Amino acid sequence: MTFSYTQIAHYLRCPRSYRHRYLDGWREKETRAAMIFGRCFEKALESYFCGDDCGAALYREWRAFRDTPFAYKKGETWDRLVHQGVHLLECFAQDNRIRIPHPQQNLQIKVVRELPNANQFIAYVDAVGELDGLHCLMDWKTTTSRYSEEPARLLSLDPQLICYSWMTGIPEVALVVFLRKHQPEIQYLRTSISEEQRAKYGRLVGATIGQIEAARFPTHSGIRFPQNGCVSCAHLGLCLDDQKLIDSSLTLTPGASDLAWLDELVD
Ligand code: SF4
Repeated sequence: MTFSYTQIAHYLRCPRSYRHRYLDGWREKETRAAMIFGRCFEKALESYFCGDDCGAALYREWRAFRDTPFAYKKGETWDRLVHQGVHLLECFAQDNRIRIPHPQQNLQIKVVRELPNANQFIAYVDAVGELDGLHCLMDWKTTTSRYSEEPARLLSLDPQLICYSWMTGIPEVALVVFLRKHQPEIQYLRTSISEEQRAKYGRLVGATIGQIEAARFPTHSGIRFPQNGCVSCAHLGLCLDDQKLIDSSLTLTPGASDLAWLDELVD
């Protein structure tokens, strides 16, 4: 079976949700404009590094969703998102802090690792290049909230960056956060992942796959007032046996377990 960061993270968040999503095939209906816009923005970044017109690329990608009935957040519109995106691309070009040599090979890099029992782990790393002259792997995020920078080295605990460091063996990692705000802003956050962290993540992957292969899927929502994980879980309707909630947020996909790793492409 092929595993990815997204699957492991999903299991660790709530094993029952993993079963709903990856074994039974209950997928969340994609109605979030911000998520789709983030994918379009990453395509525009690829164009930027390839020396093409990235603003035009963003418009072209996003135009395909002009009439999609997204659930826009308050104050968000199709036009507003593209405007913010173009502004962010301009800021990014002005900052000029990132170099990606040979962009065809160093963007959206597919990394595959063989695991015991004929399993595989697959990752798509956004970029490998230089931030302020330092060689590192990079992950792009588009969001409306700033990433916390305090306390120092908080980013070194980011499980996705640890996973990508484990997959590539690259210790230096960076998160480039594109903030869609009234005044667009870009955070360039860098940290190091130790050999010990990579080894521990490898053991966590092994243990988690062991649980999945043993078909252990207990509910583990982490319910604790006021942070109730079930409230933001797409599978809440299934756990509550609430058909109205299921119909509004989920769709059933046959053969979900075979294609589960594809989630990695959008995370
Ligand atoms: S609703 Fe809660 S218990 Fe059910 S799958 Fe989601 S997080 Fe787990």
